[in-house]
Amino acid sequence: MRFSSCYIPTLKESPADAEVASHRLLLRAGMIRRLTAGVYVYLPLGLRMLDKISKIVREEMNAAGFQELLMPVVQPADLWKESGRWEQYGKELLRFKDRNDRECCLGPTHEEVITDMVRGEVRSYRQLPVRLYQIQTKFRDEIRPRFGLMRGREFIMKDAYSFDMDVAGAERSYKSMYDAYMRIFQRLGVRFRAVEADNGSIGGSFSHEFMVLADTGEDTIVFCRNCDYAANVERARICWTGEKARSCPPCRGVATPGAHTVNEVVGMLGVPPAKIVKTLVFLADGRPVAALVRGDRELNEAKLKNLLKAQDIKLADAAAVERLTRAPLGFAGPQGLDLPVYADLELQGDTDYVTGGNAADTHAMHVDLSRDAHVTAFADLRNIAADDRCPCCGGDVTLRRGIEVGHVFMLGLKYSEAMHAAFLDEKGRERLMIMGCYGIGVSRVAAAAVEQNHDADGIVFPPSMAPFEAVLICLDPNNAQVAATAEKIYALLRRLGVDVLYDDREERPGVKFKDADLLGMPMQLVVGAKSLARRVVECKDRRCGEKSELDLDHLESAFGQWASRVRAGWDTGT
Ligand code: ATP
Ligand code: MG
Repeated sequence: MRFSSCYIPTLKESPADAEVASHRLLLRAGMIRRLTAGVYVYLPLGLRMLDKISKIVREEMNAAGFQELLMPVVQPADLWKESGRWEQYGKELLRFKDRNDRECCLGPTHEEVITDMVRGEVRSYRQLPVRLYQIQTKFRDEIRPRFGLMRGREFIMKDAYSFDMDVAGAERSYKSMYDAYMRIFQRLGVRFRAVEADNGSIGGSFSHEFMVLADTGEDTIVFCRNCDYAANVERARICWTGEKARSCPPCRGVATPGAHTVNEVVGMLGVPPAKIVKTLVFLADGRPVAALVRGDRELNEAKLKNLLKAQDIKLADAAAVERLTRAPLGFAGPQGLDLPVYADLELQGDTDYVTGGNAADTHAMHVDLSRDAHVTAFADLRNIAADDRCPCCGGDVTLRRGIEVGHVFMLGLKYSEAMHAAFLDEKGRERLMIMGCYGIGVSRVAAAAVEQNHDADGIVFPPSMAPFEAVLICLDPNNAQVAATAEKIYALLRRLGVDVLYDDREERPGVKFKDADLLGMPMQLVVGAKSLARRVVECKDRRCGEKSELDLDHLESAFGQWASRVRAGWDTGT
């Protein structure tokens, strides 16, 4: 494709509202444009990138025996009411009414639609398994759309669904998707980990997330340095085996004027954060509960929610905290609370804590939770931390940030039960289908890949998803000889099947070099008067910056060898 006839509106300046590299660079490289919060136009280069990702996804989905279909974006509310998610899904589900006053929503995911279709058509075990997928636009009215394609409101997802007659079949479907995802992300050239995950609003029995490792990731993942264990911290179990050791002096109140936060209490009382107990008041489906964790730990809402079997939990606001604990925010403690109190397991292991005093500007010292408070239950309620042990082997763990690009779920009977997706087995008995669902954020993968692969000059695309594999720069389009040589090389590259962007613009060389680096195609080839006089073509591997010269008179073979080296560097991750 000729640059001169392409629509590639690159930007010199970084857009002010773009906080992360992928957002900044995809805008600057003329690949996306924002229409409104979390909603983007994919410009021609951006679309080429998505198409390349989709192509790999399709090949692997097809190879795994899944068939492509395309479902509607608009979905009737009735199906969501049947599954129970019309009430559960909350504000992320964009709802509206049509001209006949019928309630509808924009699909954030398609379990309901596909279950409805399959239950109407599949009657016998002979028709199972059914394994289908689509690549389609989703809409989720995210509370905080940000980071460009990373967390959009409208985005592109590959979603797949499997229906099996028994657990063994469902496990085979799940495994085939897990393996396909491993191949997809390997082929896409991103550094990633598959981790155990929580099930979130999709529900179901177990799941794995595929995480691209990047410091800007919104998730934290933990993995063991000794065994294969890897999990989202939301999910990671904590094995605590300590024993209560010390005795504790009598509890007493102490004045802590203005000390609301753990750090302020540490500063005032001189105790370490690990000896402070945070008391957090939540509303679980509207019912107040208190949850306790150590001052240096993070409470894990997913674990609390699962423990309470709640549909929804949220932190109580300041007024509710004051009403329930008789103290302003920052001074709540577990003593004498008229609420169920759940304490993190680790708190069982020690005594002599500092807690809020349930009165303004007061804390309590020398608190023994079993002596001075009524704890309803001790349970695993916090996020795993770097000083915890691996729950599988007891080894050391490492915490890293990750971007969730894929998620595979074993749904079990969740939807088939609610929506009665049944079939007749060999003996003519009616049974429910066992389902799985499997998502890849196609547009998010693009952002994640750029997050991992860029430098000060621009994007460094993995060849698998680069809009073009190579850029050919003609330095003097007005020099007839140079232009003719560049045309010949362009024709040769196309004949060799290389996807090439030919920069034939009447621009200064500096502009062309800068754009080539910004756009990030893996291979750069340059034709100019000086190199032509020496019968060579200059080339650069965008990733490592290494420059080489290719013999113009034997270009086909010289290019072939160099291109294999560039591609191989990506394959081996070197
Ligand atoms: P997250 O936890 O990031 O909100 P999720 O767990 O709700 O995502 P799933 O329901 O598992 O997402 O959706 C499948 C895939 O779709 C995710 O793995 C992710 O790659 C992608 N995805 C989800 N939400 C968004 C979004 N707002 N923007 C872009 N991609 C998204
Ligand atoms: Mg998920």
